[in-house]
This record gives sequence, C-alpha cells and structure tokens, in this order.
Amino acid sequence: MRTVRVISRLFPAFMLVTLLALGGALLYAEHAIRDFHENQTALELEAELQLLRDAVQAQLGDAATLRKTIADAGRRTDTRYTVIAADGRVLADSQEDPARLENHGTRPEVLLARSGATPARATRFSATRLETLLYTATLLGAEGGAQSILRAARPLKGLNASLRSLEWHMFAVAVLIFSLAAAASYWLARRLARPLQALRATAEQYAAGNLAAHPPSSDIEEIAGLAGAMQAMARQLNDRIQSLSRERAESEAVLASMVEGVLAVNNAEAVIRLNRAAAQLLGVTSGRMLGRDLREVVRHPVLQEFVLAALASDAPIEKDMLLYAPDERHVAAQGTALRDAAGMRIGALVVLNDVTRIRRLENIQREFVANVSHELKTPITAIQGFVETLLGSDAHKPEDVRRFLEIVNRHTERLNSIIEDLLALSRIEQEESGTLEREDADLSAIAASALQLCRARASGKDIALEHRCGGPMPARVNTRLIEQALVNLLDNAIKFSAPGRLVTIAGERQGDQWKLAVRDQGCGIAAEHLPRLFERFYRVDKARSRQSGGTGLGLAIVKHIAQAHGGAVAVESQPGAGSTFAISLPAAP
Ligand code: ADP
Repeated sequence: MRTVRVISRLFPAFMLVTLLALGGALLYAEHAIRDFHENQTALELEAELQLLRDAVQAQLGDAATLRKTIADAGRRTDTRYTVIAADGRVLADSQEDPARLENHGTRPEVLLARSGATPARATRFSATRLETLLYTATLLGAEGGAQSILRAARPLKGLNASLRSLEWHMFAVAVLIFSLAAAASYWLARRLARPLQALRATAEQYAAGNLAAHPPSSDIEEIAGLAGAMQAMARQLNDRIQSLSRERAESEAVLASMVEGVLAVNNAEAVIRLNRAAAQLLGVTSGRMLGRDLREVVRHPVLQEFVLAALASDAPIEKDMLLYAPDERHVAAQGTALRDAAGMRIGALVVLNDVTRIRRLENIQREFVANVSHELKTPITAIQGFVETLLGSDAHKPEDVRRFLEIVNRHTERLNSIIEDLLALSRIEQEESGTLEREDADLSAIAASALQLCRARASGKDIALEHRCGGPMPARVNTRLIEQALVNLLDNAIKFSAPGRLVTIAGERQGDQWKLAVRDQGCGIAAEHLPRLFERFYRVDKARSRQSGGTGLGLAIVKHIAQAHGGAVAVESQPGAGSTFAISLPAAP
C-alpha cells in the first residue's frame, strides 16, 4: 500500500476545509449584503413613490403637468420615475421621452403591482438603459376602471461597485485567514508527526536489540498512551529474553557438564546440538558443527547409520559400537525421537556413553580369570596325574613313589606361591585405595635388608650383590611392602643373570622423588616385551619362568606397591647386556 506522511495527509485536508469555509462565507456575505442593499434601495424607492404618489394621482388627467412633475422629481434624485397607464402606455418618464417608449404593460413589476402584490419589485436588465435596474411599482387611483401605475427605478451600478470593493477587502482578509490556517495546520501536522517519528525511532532501536531505549514523552494523550504501551512491551520482551537466555544458559551448562555425549539432529539431518563430551568422543569442535549436515560432522559410518535409524524409528533404539577416530572407543549409543512441546517429531536425540574403560576392565577381568585358571590348571593337572598313577597300582618301586611325591610336592608349592602372590596383589590393590599404613623409614636401609634376604640365593649362583646408596633416603613408606618389591626385583635379577655377574641396587634423588634402581648384567629383555612386562602373568619365556618357580606376578606386585605409595616403576633393558628396574617414590618433605 502506498503510504504518505502525516503532514501530506493532514495539510491538504486542512487547506481544503479552510478554502471551502472561506469561499462559503464569502459567497454568503456577498449574497446577504446584496440582499440588504437591494432591500434598502427598494425601501427608499417605495418611500419616494409614497411621497410622489398623491401629486401624480391628482395630475393623471393633465399630461403636461404630469410630465413636468415627474421630470422635476427625476432631476432632484438619480431615480427614474415612470407613470404607466392602465393599458401599458407610458404617460410620463423622468429620463426618456414617453412617446418613444414601448408598451410597459407586461413589465414584471407592473404585473406584480396589478396583481395586488406589495411590495412589487423586480431587478432586471433594462433594454432602454442598458444596465441592471431595481424597479418598484405602486398602483394609482382608477382611470376608467383600470388602474395606472407609478414606477420608480434605480440602477444597481453603485451597489455593484461598492460590493466589488467590499469583495476585495473580504478576499484580502480571506487570504490572510487562509495563510494563518495554513501555518496553523502545518504546525499542527508537524507537532503530530514529530512524536510519531520519535516513536518510530524508538521502535527501530527495540528492533535493533536496544530494549532499554525510552520512547519520547508527549502531551498528546493517544501518543503518550502508545509510548507507554511500547515501553511496557519492551520491558516484557526484555524479561522474556532474559529468562529465555537464562534457561538456555542453564540447559547449555547441563549439557556441557554431562559425561554422556549428546547429539541432536533435526528431521533434515542437520546437527542442532552437540555437547562437549560428544565432540570429544567424535573428535570434532562442537561450536562450528551446529546447523551442518550430520554426514559432515559425524565421520563414523556406524554412528551415521544409527542416527538415521533413530530418525526413522518411533521406539527408542540402542547399539554398542566401536569408533576408531580420534582413538579407539567403545560407545554405547541410545537413540530416541526428539519431539517439541506439541508432540511433533522434530528430529532425533542420540546419547553416547563412553564404555571403553568398562569394556577394558571387563576384558582385564576375563583375561585375569582365564590366566589364573590356566596357571592353576597346570600344577593341579600334574598333581592329579601323579596321584592317579600312585593310586592306580601298588607295584611302584619305592624310589619312583618318592620321585612322584617330590613332583607332587613341587607343584603344591607352586600352587601355594601362586595363591600367596595373588593374595598379596589383592591386598596391595585394596591398600592402593588409600588405607596404606606408612611409617618414617630410610629407603637405603630397606634396600640393605632386601639385599641381605637375597644374599644366600645370590651366593648360590656366585652372583655379587652391591649396595650403592650415598646416604640415608628418608621417606614415608610401608617398609614391609617396599622390601618385598625390592626382593622381587633382586630375585628376578639373580634368576635371569648368568653366574659370576653383578647385581647392584642404587639410590638417588630425582627432584622430590627417590629412585631405587636394581641393575643386572643378565639376559636382558627384547623391546617388544617391555610395555607389557608389568602385567599379571606376563612372562617373556613362559617355560623358563615356570621352571625357575616364577608365577608371573612378581613385577605386577612391584608395580602395585609403587603405585600404592604414589610412585611408579620403569624398566630399561638391552637384550644380552642386562636390565635396570627402577622404583620412584616420593621423598619425605
Ligand atoms: P616371574 O615370576 O616369571 O619372574 P615376574 O613378573 O617377576 O614373573 O617377571 C615377568 C617376566 O619378566 C619374567 O618371566 C621374565 O621373563 C621377565 N623379567 C623380569 N625380570 C627380569 C630380568 N631382571 N631380566 C630379564 N628378564 C626379566
């Protein structure tokens, strides 16, 4: 729709009304003045007729006297007098020769006077005088039954001239009034338009987000009302926006703090929400993904398929999947339809649970149970075999019986040491959870006593043991456990060293840690075994380990003891040259 400014709409209307009012007033005034003037002239003429009437009536029979009287009366005034006989002949005329005048019997004022109308007036253009005249007529006494007429006439020329000058004056006043009205209407239109423009500017500010803007104040009630309503609207809008953004921030915070990954897509498969956990799981940056196509964001085909299935399904769906990037993760995904407040389906919501750790623990547990069973099975099978052999016959030679029983004894010892190690491990694991008993101790002294415990076994293999700790190494530790760890390491060092070699235990300070290193010159360990060396039951050479009475739990126990003290273990090894196992423990402050 075409729009116009208030001023363009109001101003012409005001002008038109002013113009019409002025024009009407002018016309009416002219009409009224003309009427008044004509009436006044007519009354004068009628008064003159009354004055002349008696004299004329007396002289009706004497044409010459009559003409003289009429001519005299005409000279004294600028009125034209005419006496008209009953048949219409002009008997006398103050300005014209009656003989030259035509019959006046049908003149309107004559007819009116004859019909008895008073006053008998007419205004018309005179063919004789060639101007507009006002005529009045009156009946005279009877003359042969019919009545003569005395008529007076005066030109309206003077009236017209004075009316014209009056009109000019009135026109000048009208122009003045018109100008004043124009100025007033212009001012009024501006006064109305200005607050409206200010309101518009405020509304534009609201639209631009500045809801604190104040609408202008106005003394026009409607505009003041509109301004008030606008301000109330802005306040409400502000409140609503604030509560919306607060709600949004809260739900963002909830989503962001969730451990579970949350991914929401709309029906067009565009991402509408992706929380931090989901972004981390999928290896993407959450901010830049919103509004983008699912396939651009989720590079995992299994998850893409799952999201599409969630979009297509009415019932909640679940699936365990393995994602390979950015790192390998086991994910339990749950998908449901996403519905708006009205219950309309607007997309799908997928919750991703990272179950990698749980799966890993489950695996470790499974492996552990399998390993334990396997470890126990070997000695039990052997024991069972030899016992059955012994029971099967009484004809065994006594030396065979003794040999079998020795083997059974060895396997029983092995079973015992496996079970002891397992119990030790489980104890340490429990203590790792915070209940470890500690005392102020000197690690150097613990190392010396561990060496002492291993001395007999070392000398049996002709292996020299060396203690190289500069001075006291104070720390808060569980002495029994640290000693056990060092014995395990020394035991292995002796076990895997050829006779005549040297095993040292050295202590040194590294920052706020003590490092105790057990070094041997034994067979060493190939690099590929090092990462798994501290796992339970892990052995480089299973047969050799078993033969030497190893359970495969020694290093696992060392690792757990170090961890229970807030420390760590490390290994360096060179096949053929020897190995160094080091335990780091926090030093006493
Ligand atoms: P085990 O009871 O079999 O010794 P451990 O957990 O103590 O079990 O050791 C695991 C494996 O690590 C051993 O079987 C052995 O192969 C290797 N190993 C440990 N210590 C040494 C060492 N000092 N030199 C060479 N290999 C070693």
